[in-house]
Amino acid sequence: MTQYKMLIDGELREGVASIDVVNPADESVVAQCPVADEVMLNQAVESAHKAYLSWRKLSFSERGSYLKKLTAAVEENAEKFARILTLEQGKPLAQARDEVMFSQIFANHFADCEIESRVLSDDDNGRIEVLREPLGVVAGICPWNFPLLISLYKIAPAVMAGNSIIIKPAPTTPLSSLTLAELIADIFPPGVVNILCDNNDLGPAISSHPGIAKVSFTGSTPTGKKIMASAAGTLKRLTLELGGNDAAIVLDDVDPKQVAEGIFGAAFLNSGQVCIALKRLYVHDSIYDELCEEIGKLASAAVVGNGLDEGVQFGPVQNRMQFDKVCSYIDNAKANGRIIAGGDVPDAPGFIVPLTVVRDIEDGTAVVDEEPFGPILPIVRYQDLDDVIERANHSDYGLGGSVWSSNLDRARDVASRIDSGTVWINQHCAFGPHIPFAPAKESGLGVEWGEEGFHEFTAMKVVNISKAYSNPVH
Ligand code: NAD
Repeated sequence: MTQYKMLIDGELREGVASIDVVNPADESVVAQCPVADEVMLNQAVESAHKAYLSWRKLSFSERGSYLKKLTAAVEENAEKFARILTLEQGKPLAQARDEVMFSQIFANHFADCEIESRVLSDDDNGRIEVLREPLGVVAGICPWNFPLLISLYKIAPAVMAGNSIIIKPAPTTPLSSLTLAELIADIFPPGVVNILCDNNDLGPAISSHPGIAKVSFTGSTPTGKKIMASAAGTLKRLTLELGGNDAAIVLDDVDPKQVAEGIFGAAFLNSGQVCIALKRLYVHDSIYDELCEEIGKLASAAVVGNGLDEGVQFGPVQNRMQFDKVCSYIDNAKANGRIIAGGDVPDAPGFIVPLTVVRDIEDGTAVVDEEPFGPILPIVRYQDLDDVIERANHSDYGLGGSVWSSNLDRARDVASRIDSGTVWINQHCAFGPHIPFAPAKESGLGVEWGEEGFHEFTAMKVVNISKAYSNPVH
């Protein structure tokens, strides 16, 4: 078995203990993951702070050249990363390869980014400049659905802005980040990037740590709220990318056969374990039966299983806790609607759940109102457009949403009335490093990606120059 180590101060280190990492396809133990305690966290913060003092002095292009070396090393090890992702996360190998590729795209994008200072005025009397400076030590706390992509899309903008960073992967998917740690140890100066693992117990010490200036968190809304409370004592900067229950509204003017595949893919990508997956489907009465049938057929034909097996299109749910949650949502769907695909969870080792579609279900049921975060799609009928927009907006979440229509003007009008950070038209789940991603309501706080997301890893500083000595009292 590979010996995985954490990265602190440029050194690959063993932990104070270790935990099993389990393959969700069959519950076999894939590897041991070292875990850190608060002493090691303090060492990482101290090292990150020391590293930051020199790192911040480098130019953007110097910092970018380190990052580009890292993405080149990821490329050289792409197949190794993909296999590790499938083993720890469950997604089929082809999708694991996509995750490795997207990680490189995100890192390379930020490797070329720079922030210019803005000059507000420059005249005989003086000059006013608005600068963007690094924050110091940043922490990135990650979930288990896209472990490599999320680690890298936090590391890249953080270090490009001149910060150092401590990454903490989710305890069930640490191996891809620890493999990244091995590459980083050979490329970056000690302390610029540190990678620490835990047994789901180090989070509070990170979010309350006085030596950490910002937490960039991706995970569930309840954990995001805990982080916000715990970070209040040190008034940390926060970016919180949290849960979602994205609604899609299908208007009466679409051909169900033409939209079924796009809707199906957006609902079941990564077996539904995507924050911006399509999670509630509202379909106009006039096309409801036909679209249900098309989506049901696609879900029934899908091959779900061990992501390493040839021909498997959808992997397992990632961990036991999530599996139990998804099973309870399937029970809820059976009690309140009609299952037209899946629904029968095999009694075997592993967390395999067949893609499940439920129709004739209403708002007010758990599977519609909550975030199942698994392979289950409720399809809800509607008659009136104004009413369905209100129902789509009747959620504490506001991550994404979509409108499907053959009439783009109509779709645009509906999109303008949906309360979420992103609204797609005739697609769902499209994202990229150049597109800002900003959650609404309890789906989070702040922005990731794009220029705005990059700026979140900086503090604004104004330098206001008077060319002659000036006195505010006249
Ligand atoms: P989670 O909130 O349980 O855990 C996420 C991370 O937080 C893990 O690393 C965990 O160890 C850590 N953590 C746990 N308790 C903590 C605490 N008190 N303080 C600090 N850190 C703590 O989430 P998860 O189950 O890993 O991921 C699933 C959730 O993440 C879903 O709700 C999903 O929608 C959301 N998610 C959101 C996005 C997004 O960009 N908005 C992306 C992916 C996943």
